[in-house]
Amino acid sequence: MRDEICKKCRAVGEKLFLKGEKCYTPKCPMVRRGIAFHGKNKRKPALTPYGRQLLEKQKAKLIYGIREKQLQRYFNLAYKKQGATPIILAQILESRLDNVIVRAGFVSNRASARQLISHGCFLLNGRKHNISSTILKHGDIVSVNPNVLQREIFKNIKEKLTKNNPPKFIEVDPDKLTITIVKEPDLEELKMPIDFPSIVEFYSK
Ligand code: SF4
Repeated sequence: MRDEICKKCRAVGEKLFLKGEKCYTPKCPMVRRGIAFHGKNKRKPALTPYGRQLLEKQKAKLIYGIREKQLQRYFNLAYKKQGATPIILAQILESRLDNVIVRAGFVSNRASARQLISHGCFLLNGRKHNISSTILKHGDIVSVNPNVLQREIFKNIKEKLTKNNPPKFIEVDPDKLTITIVKEPDLEELKMPIDFPSIVEFYSK
């Protein structure tokens, strides 16, 4: 079971960074064994535009830990807003509560963030909130539920947050253990390995 998560990266032939710290070390199977398709030295097969759209959709679902229906719903939301739909879609995904917890440095992957959220470890604007898919907006403040501060996971959290370098759309206060949404996520800064225009093309048909 150990490598079940890593198999997802190998299936799409790209590092999706699903495990957090391990992904940045030589222990990553994508580094140790090479890319899944054809071994280390061979190229990925060329994809048709449709194949590319499916692949990018798959990557987005794996990275953000969401299902097809949710991705389609986020596309519909993005499509209704003014502006470039691929950018808005990416901003919506980045603004999910579970993603923000990871970006702030509390945990290193979205699955762990979802677990903490579902266990009531966080407050949203002062109230207990256990829905990982909530899309945060400018001005929202996420804080740690004081009742869980004794848990192992929150030991040394201040040091952990201080060492982390969060993206500019959030402000993290390691003393107060809070995250504030201060602007829209900037894709240039985040450098996600997803081609969002391909996803939009798929759903725009
Ligand atoms: Fe596993 Fe992370 Fe490497 Fe993907 S990037 S194969 S999740 S260690």
